[in-house]
Amino acid sequence: MREETYPFVMRPLPYEYDALMPVLDVETLTFHHDKHYKTYVDQLNNVLADYPELQKMSLKELLMNLDRLPAAAQTSVRNNGGGVYNHELYFDGMKSPVGQMPVGALEEALVRDFGSVNQWKEQMKQAAVSKFGSGWAWLVTDGNGKLFIQQTSNQDVPDLEVYTPLLTVDVWEHAYYLQYQNRRADYVEGWFDLINWKKAGRRYEEALQKKEA
Ligand code: MN
Repeated sequence: MREETYPFVMRPLPYEYDALMPVLDVETLTFHHDKHYKTYVDQLNNVLADYPELQKMSLKELLMNLDRLPAAAQTSVRNNGGGVYNHELYFDGMKSPVGQMPVGALEEALVRDFGSVNQWKEQMKQAAVSKFGSGWAWLVTDGNGKLFIQQTSNQDVPDLEVYTPLLTVDVWEHAYYLQYQNRRADYVEGWFDLINWKKAGRRYEEALQKKEA
């Protein structure tokens, strides 16, 4: 996803702060990106500042080798490195809420693995709404191009040795509470209109090419 190393730099949103209205208003998106996501970037850099040997590792390498990191750094890298990875995929995976549907290989795979795009949506919504506490719901693919819906807790990432994430929705309260209060299901329903299917489809095709390589 990214090959940068320490010090990690906060990525700007790939659209304007009002681009996701009315699903996500300016205040919600500004706090989420400029405060919450920034804190994960800053805290990841803070912990890595004490470990020169970790400063050459990419974010993905750090997250795939948590068990091998110095014990005192593991929890912080897991929480803050995961926070950076997850938010970058989340923000990058959205666009203005104007009609876009899955096409090409990803659309075919959604139909093959879930019955229809709508059935996938129902299962994805269920995963996002039912996630207890703070976490994420994901659409991922394995090394054979099969699609799966997953949930992770806190800022945990899917097993990146096995799965390539294609889409993710943040169901921490900070992602929606300013605008939706406790109505997580309404936020998730709106998120489906924000999905950047072009980018998700490109990620899927890249994963398929890796499989053939
Ligand atoms: Mn978040």
